[in-house]
Amino acid sequence: MVITKDAPRISAAYVGRFAPSPTGPLHHGSLLAAVGSYLEARAAGGRWLLRIEDLDPPREMPGAACGILRTLEAYGFEWDGEVVYQSRRLDHYRAALDRLVAAGLAYPCACTRREIADSSLRGIDGPVYPGTCRAGLAAGRAPRAWRLRVGEGETGFLDAVQGWQSQVLARDLGDFVLLRADGYFAYQLAVVVDDALQGVSHVVRGADLLDSTPRQIYLQQALGSPLPGYAHLPVLTNAAGEKLSKQTRAPALEIERAGLELWQALTILGQQPPAGLRGAAPAEVWRWAFAHWRLGVVPRQRAIMDG
Ligand code: GLU
Repeated sequence: MVITKDAPRISAAYVGRFAPSPTGPLHHGSLLAAVGSYLEARAAGGRWLLRIEDLDPPREMPGAACGILRTLEAYGFEWDGEVVYQSRRLDHYRAALDRLVAAGLAYPCACTRREIADSSLRGIDGPVYPGTCRAGLAAGRAPRAWRLRVGEGETGFLDAVQGWQSQVLARDLGDFVLLRADGYFAYQLAVVVDDALQGVSHVVRGADLLDSTPRQIYLQQALGSPLPGYAHLPVLTNAAGEKLSKQTRAPALEIERAGLELWQALTILGQQPPAGLRGAAPAEVWRWAFAHWRLGVVPRQRAIMDG
């Protein structure tokens, strides 16, 4: 499948979103995605939705979702409508999976992690699924996960920050998982279903998800959903080049430092806020940012070192 560079189907009304996973508190890496998606939506006169992606309980931290909402509020973010929780939307993901199964695009897979790891093919995300269960389960094997059957063609898109991106899913990943062996729906399926049902027209998020986007576009096409526009902002890394995250012990955002953190996020995003605004109250920083935000000056990099 090839998506031509000049034919994205983008809806007229701008709807953006921020979709944190409650695996820990927000830190100044996640703040970049919140700030960028918020300002891009506001600059377009659009709506900005907040979705808590709590679909992976083994990775979640108790209380993190509440903490994220409290921090966003204290930082002066104003989201539109109710907060959406993915854990309450399983019926939607099930319905989408059923449609894919009915269309012959999804199939059950009995392979264990070990069996797949033995695949000699290496792709962008570890071993490429070798298609073992594509033509049906071997006798006596029980289904563990459900996978999407991908085509041989190229899936590409023009990212508003990172430029043209493309993958050949069959070569780079193989048929990917929609429903995991542990019974949880995969992020790739849930995010596509929700972006479509919530009418999200533009996805602005961290470049750590750049490699997921072709899978999401492929799924949108399989489900007949409109394609959002994409902009992937640089992610912050520590001195060792690792993305700031709970695993790399990124310090949590502090509510008392909101104005300063926002000023710094704008600086990292290339916006050059005036020095005199450094340390000002969040409302003042936002006032400046609403008037001056430009996606076009965001550094066209996947990663920037923190500090
Ligand atoms: N929940 C994902 C994360 O926190 C982001 C999903 C997205 O923006 O598409 O990394």
